[in-house]
Amino acid sequence: MKPYECGRCGHLLDIADATCPRCAAPLGFALPLDDILVLDGPEGDGWVRCLEHPTTGCTWVVAPDDGPRCESCRLTRTVPGDDDPDDHANLVVIEQAKRRLVVQLTGLGLPIVDRGVDPEGGLAFDLKSTRYEPVTIGHADGVITIDLAESDDAHREMLRAQLDEPYRTVLGHLRHEIGHYYWEVLVARPGRHDAFRALFGDERESYQDAIERHYAEGAPPGWHETWVSAYATMHPWEDWAETFAHYLHIRDTLDTASAFGMSLAGPVEGTADGAMIATDDADESTFWSVARDWTALATALNAVNRSMGHADLYPFALTPAVINKLAHLHDLVRSS
Ligand SMILES: [Zn+2]
Ligand SMILES: [Zn+2]
Ligand SMILES: [Zn+2]
Repeated sequence: MKPYECGRCGHLLDIADATCPRCAAPLGFALPLDDILVLDGPEGDGWVRCLEHPTTGCTWVVAPDDGPRCESCRLTRTVPGDDDPDDHANLVVIEQAKRRLVVQLTGLGLPIVDRGVDPEGGLAFDLKSTRYEPVTIGHADGVITIDLAESDDAHREMLRAQLDEPYRTVLGHLRHEIGHYYWEVLVARPGRHDAFRALFGDERESYQDAIERHYAEGAPPGWHETWVSAYATMHPWEDWAETFAHYLHIRDTLDTASAFGMSLAGPVEGTADGAMIATDDADESTFWSVARDWTALATALNAVNRSMGHADLYPFALTPAVINKLAHLHDLVRSS
């Protein structure tokens, strides 16, 4: 995500900022403008804060006739019913991650139809607490369910270690589940199944059998060559959702690097001639050039993270088979 600038003092801002850290100007993010506005200045005229600002700290603004909830908050259908402080703190984290997701999807030109507009297939989020019921993270017919406890760092890290996953974040969950939603939008239409099945396999295979096999036997030997993660090996739908999440990771992180003017001149992985950081230019006509730049950037950022004693930023390796899947997805996203 690109950095935004305070219209009053020029300080660099993030969409999570409701006030400028330097000059204390009240701020609001307007999705239709892709900009952060100073609300008590002329640019703030005609914009009001999202109704959820006092409850979840939403930092977005809407035009009065487009409210009262912003484009992200209106997608939330279910939240826990009481004022438990832990649930509330977790909800704040998830809503913030969801706003990042909505900014990216909008930037990519992917349609977001909310459930209020299409009660059958529109998008909605049920944000539930295991305090009241068992919660399974997942997607069904446009409804994405997220366990609020995933916002708790200690809990999520415990699960990550238990499940032997290299990466587990709230934003990653959202990017995976929205992938299932976009399978319906981008693939489940006449003429598109064959190309999907050639790369990801036949999604008509029993999902229940696939789950049982995966948890009994684990990923097949040598899976790294064909799938981006062990979880992706379970079923073609999960392969698609995992690949979609990686597509969003890669595009957003490259866009951020590009917005900050980053380029690599040092040793790079996977290229003979050095790497420029990919931008959205038309000449980036295939995903292969994006993958080249991403591999170079991810290799460098992993090394930077290790210098700080952190885990790798991107603990995955893209193989030709995985890049082919990402390239197919890239074409579908661009055609949408
Ligand atoms: Zn400022
Ligand atoms: Zn909002
Ligand atoms: Zn899934």
